[in-house]
Amino acid sequence: MLAQQTAGLPLTVTKGQKILGIRRAILNLERAVFYFIWGSKWEREREPVSSVRGLAIGEPSQVWRNVNHPALPNRLRDLSWMVAHEVLPVRSVMHSRGLLQSATCPRPGCGAPKSVRHLLWECSAAVDQWAIAGSLQFPYLPAGEVLTAQLMLYGVGLSPNSKKDFTRIWLTLAATKDAIWTSRNLLVGRHMQIPPVAMIRMAAATVREAVAAGGGP
Ligand SMILES: [Zn+2]
Repeated sequence: MLAQQTAGLPLTVTKGQKILGIRRAILNLERAVFYFIWGSKWEREREPVSSVRGLAIGEPSQVWRNVNHPALPNRLRDLSWMVAHEVLPVRSVMHSRGLLQSATCPRPGCGAPKSVRHLLWECSAAVDQWAIAGSLQFPYLPAGEVLTAQLMLYGVGLSPNSKKDFTRIWLTLAATKDAIWTSRNLLVGRHMQIPPVAMIRMAAATVREAVAAGGGP
């Protein structure tokens, strides 16, 4: 039902708030599962300088600075941290811990092994999302070959003109990842398919919230 609602644009404030409410509830649930698996938040503080697979020497420290970037609200910091550790509770992570029988992507017709990278970058839903993100709401997002998986996942590999530019890009990337994650959760939990343009609107709303809260560029 919600998918039908979000397909009609523009979204009203009420519908947008409903989506945000669902998103928060689902993220809280996912977070509870995550902490159940990985232990207390205290563990998070103990490992601020772990290496990140596939990054050049020196980049991991940049990754952990980005995870805790002051422009990100706590929810996006949590998400960024789980992405950097590759422990976002996607199906492959849950499957490897015996919590799910299937480890494949829940998108209709996909069936690829579900990993954090697949969810946020390789799945056709994510490809569509990134393809329209810049042209619709975020014209300052890097596009084409400049927007790499490592920039999207970790915020590395870009030479921005200024700290302010990086903040704007990084906040937008985090908000867009959050929208993809929320969309996936609505698909898995409620069998709702959220149109890419509605996902972009969710990301834009998250950016506006963060900026209004004083964290934006
Ligand atoms: Zn997929």
